[in-house]
Amino acid sequence: MAELITPDICVVGGGPAGIALALGAARRGVPVVLIEKDQMGGANLTSGAIPSKALGAAASHHDVLRRAPAFGVSGAPLQVNLSKVSDHIRSVGEAVAPQLSAERLTALGVRVINAPARFLDRRTLIADEHTVIARRFVIATGAIPRVPEIPGLDDVDYMVPETAFEISRKPSHLIVLGAGAYAWFEGCMAVGMVAGPLTSGFLGTALGLSSVFFLAASLTLVITLASFLPVFSGHSIYK
Ligand SMILES: Cc1cc2nc3c(=O)[nH]c(=O)nc-3n(C[C@H](O)[C@H](O)[C@H](O)COP(=O)(O)OP(=O)(O)OC[C@H]3O[C@@H](n4cnc5c(N)ncnc54)[C@H](O)[C@@H]3O)c2cc1C
Repeated sequence: MAELITPDICVVGGGPAGIALALGAARRGVPVVLIEKDQMGGANLTSGAIPSKALGAAASHHDVLRRAPAFGVSGAPLQVNLSKVSDHIRSVGEAVAPQLSAERLTALGVRVINAPARFLDRRTLIADEHTVIARRFVIATGAIPRVPEIPGLDDVDYMVPETAFEISRKPSHLIVLGAGAYAWFEGCMAVGMVAGPLTSGFLGTALGLSSVFFLAASLTLVITLASFLPVFSGHSIYK
């Protein structure tokens, strides 16, 4: 049944930005509606911070075990089961999801609608059978990767963040396109560590500002922690 809702704030997008904003409003007693068309949590839950840090945790364990013989500790030959790594990544997401769920947000005072939102006019938004007329609208719909136009790319089995964490077999070569902090650090380091030394390349087309800071910090880390260096053997940087 069609329902008219008139909150002070209507947030479109249930990623980290939309959730933080909606919770902040609810905490102050401001009537707020949050609309998410897909899974609550946005990119961070499915293809961003959470799966990448779970992969990073697996990579850290791998690194500790790889270096253990130098401390006089050794066990069976080091092996990585990428399908179990994927299970681990999925289980971390499942553990975090309730914190970002519609149920929790509702309990904290946010009205959550699970439907795609579209504007009817400047003041009116439609989501499923709901019509929302809010004092303020917040668009927190995030971004999606734009696949660059590179000749031959269509013939290659490439990954984007949405699919990278479902990796289930060790790639023999890994080329990371783009010099963003997450692509470089998490693509090269974590995948490289978990899957073992790769003959991989890092193709930096343009260094973004945040990447420059991150690269500087990461290089410092690499220099400080000499143990990381073997991971980079076989990695090339092209600009
Ligand atoms: C590999 C990787 C690692 C990362 N690691 C980190 C990290 O460690 N720390 C960090 O802070 N960030 C990290 N990020 C970045 C982080 O994921 C993004 O900055 C963050 O998800 C952006 O949040 P958002 O809420 O703006 O958008 P999103 O997370 O993209 O959420 C937008 C939401 O809007 C919804 N939506 C879109 N259109 C509509 C519509 N019409 N109606 C209803 N809903 C709609 C979408 O379904 C989505 O759920 C990482 C990213 C990647 C790729």
